[in-house]
Amino acid sequence: MSIMKDELRTGLGFDSHRMSSTRPLILAGITIPSDKGLDGRSDADVLCHALIDALLGAAHLGNIGQLFPDTDPVYENADSLTLLRRVVRLILTHEWTIENIDAVLILERPKIGPYLPEMEQSLAAACSIHPDRVSIKPKTNEGLDAIGRREGAAALVSCLLSRKAK
Ligand code: MG
Repeated sequence: MSIMKDELRTGLGFDSHRMSSTRPLILAGITIPSDKGLDGRSDADVLCHALIDALLGAAHLGNIGQLFPDTDPVYENADSLTLLRRVVRLILTHEWTIENIDAVLILERPKIGPYLPEMEQSLAAACSIHPDRVSIKPKTNEGLDAIGRREGAAALVSCLLSRKAK
């Protein structure tokens, strides 16, 4: 006799964007006061983009470039939280539950600490989970390389999905 176990899947996502002095800094859907923001076709929210890829990867549902091609003008200045909500709906359609999200944000300046609770709440709300299940850890790159020179920023996100055994 076999006992069916609930299915667990981890996902991993990475994203990076260039910094620009003409763009707002939007991270996890929150606009953060800064002399530089992230540049891209959408709002360049690296945290949302890396999270989307983590979720899609865990569920084996492709990747962000396949779902939202950056050659499609519809995604010009797209709100990445809206894209994230769409991916969450897709994940839920496949009967997955999002157990937790753990993120690393690599950004030299500004200091992100004061905004973390709001950012974690924002991602949690988009994923319909408790904020206690979302962790964002900001890191500088200690002045090293392009991120250290404030030419860009990056995010790494992992997630855990579960699905009831059938
Ligand atoms: Mg991106």
